Amino acid sequence: MKEYNFEQMVFSLSNLYDNAIFFDFENDSLKVFKIMPRLEKLMKSDEGAQEKINIAISRTVDSEFQRAMYDFVDGDTLQRRLKNENIIHQEYLSVERGWSEAFIITVERNDDGKVKKFFYVSKSIHEESIERKRKRDEEIRNRHLLQDALETAEAANKAKSLFLSNVSHDIRTPLNGIIGMTAIASDKIDDKGKVMDCLNKINIASQHLLSLINEVLDMSKIESGKLVLSKDDFSLVNLIENTYNIVKSELKSHRHSLSLNVSGITHTMVKGDRMRIQQILLNMVSNMIKYTPEGGRLKIIVREKSISPNMVACYEMMFIDNGIGMSPETQAVIFNPFSRADDDRTSQIEGTGLGLPIARNIAHMMGGDIVVESEQNKGSTFTVTLFLPVSAGNEKIDNISAGDEPSSINSLKNMKLDGYNILLVEDNDLNAEIARTVLEATGISVDWAKNGEEALKKVSDSEDWHYRMILMDIQMPKMNGYDATRAIRSIEREYTRNVPIISMTANAFAEDVENAKRAGMNAHLSKPINMNELARVLNRWLKY
Ligand code: ADP
Repeated sequence: MKEYNFEQMVFSLSNLYDNAIFFDFENDSLKVFKIMPRLEKLMKSDEGAQEKINIAISRTVDSEFQRAMYDFVDGDTLQRRLKNENIIHQEYLSVERGWSEAFIITVERNDDGKVKKFFYVSKSIHEESIERKRKRDEEIRNRHLLQDALETAEAANKAKSLFLSNVSHDIRTPLNGIIGMTAIASDKIDDKGKVMDCLNKINIASQHLLSLINEVLDMSKIESGKLVLSKDDFSLVNLIENTYNIVKSELKSHRHSLSLNVSGITHTMVKGDRMRIQQILLNMVSNMIKYTPEGGRLKIIVREKSISPNMVACYEMMFIDNGIGMSPETQAVIFNPFSRADDDRTSQIEGTGLGLPIARNIAHMMGGDIVVESEQNKGSTFTVTLFLPVSAGNEKIDNISAGDEPSSINSLKNMKLDGYNILLVEDNDLNAEIARTVLEATGISVDWAKNGEEALKKVSDSEDWHYRMILMDIQMPKMNGYDATRAIRSIEREYTRNVPIISMTANAFAEDVENAKRAGMNAHLSKPINMNELARVLNRWLKY
């Protein structure tokens, strides 16, 4: 192997630096390989090595960084820092060269590990390296930001998965009831009483499924900020009484007494989202009914707490029951989606755990809140506060909904609509069969088109007012309901421009209703068909 001249090698490598000095601690001596011109003389003086370096620092390092550099080369500090490292590094500002960096590189240690000899090198950091450093710092910062974002996304994802697994469990439960009861009914087909019992249970499970789906949609609309409140003029007292009427029969079947006190309301007419407020009221009352053992004493007290100069009133509604109550732990979580009391009594009671979070979110949107006070086995008090502008307008009575009256074919049977033809446009056989059977109960004759294209042909080929109404599904193969409606409306006939077209669809969002209107439809019915709604639509539009 060729012999290398190490001194020559070190000397060559020193060219990479502005200063390169070899230190011998033991002898407090140094050997200079390279030094900036203004320090040349100092290095040749008789001072000790440590002293020379300190003087060099005082002459060349910006005053703000001198402390750090003295520390960097100080014997004790240096030994400590080099205990587990072979190289240490320090950035500083040089008076002449701007941003600089220095390295101390271990060359030799004692038996006890103390550094005996080391190299000191330093050089200015070029503009590009400063830029590189800035970029690296930025990269690290971005990586941290990305990490944070990733963690947030993961947390959101986890919450979403939990939500979905809750939903799918809660959907399967009533579906299991529906499927199971259907099987039992077909097995006991000759036992009329048993079949009727199964059908009732299927009806209950279906209603539960429907309300679950509506609640999940509400929740997702709230979470995506898409829930929009309407501004109706209505009487708060009427709304409360209306709500009471809806739950009256349920109160009776549970043998509950309910006292209703609305005497503390001065301004009865308000402006706000009547349906959403009713949703809150219904949720509160139905919880009182559900979570109070038979024969409970329930109270609703509504009062107007205050009114601002710009006529926004604060209403407080208290829902007081003497039911099963809740532990403090349960109270702490009931406003979280899907949270329900974790006990046998509650799991026996139908519920999704979505009612309260939705109700409170709606209350928040109205500037209010919902709070709970409760004691286990004694009862609960839910207090809803809402801020609503008082209104001078009159209530539009026809807006009052029938609420959750049972949906039965009876209301249709009495309609006596014999002699009317309507066109049913529906691609799904089962849905077509249901709609057809229900419609035919009124005496109407139903013609069926399986998609928009067929509907368009049937209408174009029919005589004026052959069809007195068209019930139109939206999502269909070949031609959807919107396109079919537009095509029918664009035919140049008085009949096709005016024949009532009602959308009948499972797309139940406000924007779907809006789209239906824009395509030229007259009204909207959502699926599953509510018989009372259908009766109302037939009454309103069929005799056009
Ligand atoms: P659900 O009633 O569908 O379970 P909610 O969100 O309306 O959903 O209520 C969440 C939980 O709060 C209920 O499951 C029940 O444990 C508890 N809760 C609500 N209201 C009452 C009440 N009046 N008395 C006792 N517990 C109640």
